[in-house]
Amino acid sequence: MRTANQYYRQRFGCKVYKLSLDGGFTCPNRDGRLGIGGCRFCSGAGSGEFASAGKGVADQLARAKKWVEKKCAGGKYIAYFQSFTNTYAPVERMETMFRAAMEPEDIVGLAIATRPDCLPEETVALLARLAREKYVSVELGLQTVHNDTARAMNRCYDTDVYFDAVRRLRNAGLEVVTHLILGLPGESREAMVESARQVAAAGTDGVKFHLLHVMADAPLAEDYAAGTFRCLELEEYGEILAECLRQFPDTAVVHRITGDGARRGLIAPMWSLDKKRVLNYLNDLLSGYGLLDQRGL
Ligand code: SF4
Repeated sequence: MRTANQYYRQRFGCKVYKLSLDGGFTCPNRDGRLGIGGCRFCSGAGSGEFASAGKGVADQLARAKKWVEKKCAGGKYIAYFQSFTNTYAPVERMETMFRAAMEPEDIVGLAIATRPDCLPEETVALLARLAREKYVSVELGLQTVHNDTARAMNRCYDTDVYFDAVRRLRNAGLEVVTHLILGLPGESREAMVESARQVAAAGTDGVKFHLLHVMADAPLAEDYAAGTFRCLELEEYGEILAECLRQFPDTAVVHRITGDGARRGLIAPMWSLDKKRVLNYLNDLLSGYGLLDQRGL
């Protein structure tokens, strides 16, 4: 399996950084169309804690680039619409925004995070048109294939919708990256591995694994305070992650091996704050198993 860095270097011939953007979207399970309150694990930032604050797309891109350049010079960028559901809008509004983001020469393409139930045919057609001009990857927040967990988490769509979306996106020539959360309340190790197995079988091009973390402003904080579940320990997370990775073919791209919650507002697990230690531990474990060479992930 390849890391995202390895994949981008092969594809674009240079180091590629993702610039997180907030397009001002919301979600159908926040605005009342399907539900209110959003997914129980989701913070008020709509899973976009690291999206650049700013008004328009150009302003956000400039700020985000400045921030990256402070740490590492050189390379190119992917404009990453990260916060909330970035295809939950009229096609004309999306087209204007996405074209503005992909226009600069040093932007090699777009990554668009969304829900599989917010991909009507006209949206898929728009994304396919854009993909003929620059790279476009569609990131689907699935989190689990298990509908009982999804219902408990207020995801507000059934997993069949995801399988249908993957099929339609891939038929349109679009790249698909699937997000999975390890440690959702009530899920056994076997259940998490089964999610990975089904996602791999569906043909996702890439995968992002996230550790379930509890943020103070997420509804899940109430359940955690009530003691209805516990968070994974690092060692457990590593072993489950390894087993999940074993489900994927060599061609799959691993974009993330864990998620980072913002320091401010994190309730649990506190071990996830030591990002360097966590990544070193997971890197050593996965390379020891011969699963992934994490250098540069
Ligand atoms: S996880 Fe995604 S779909 Fe769920 S509320 Fe957050 S941004 Fe919306």
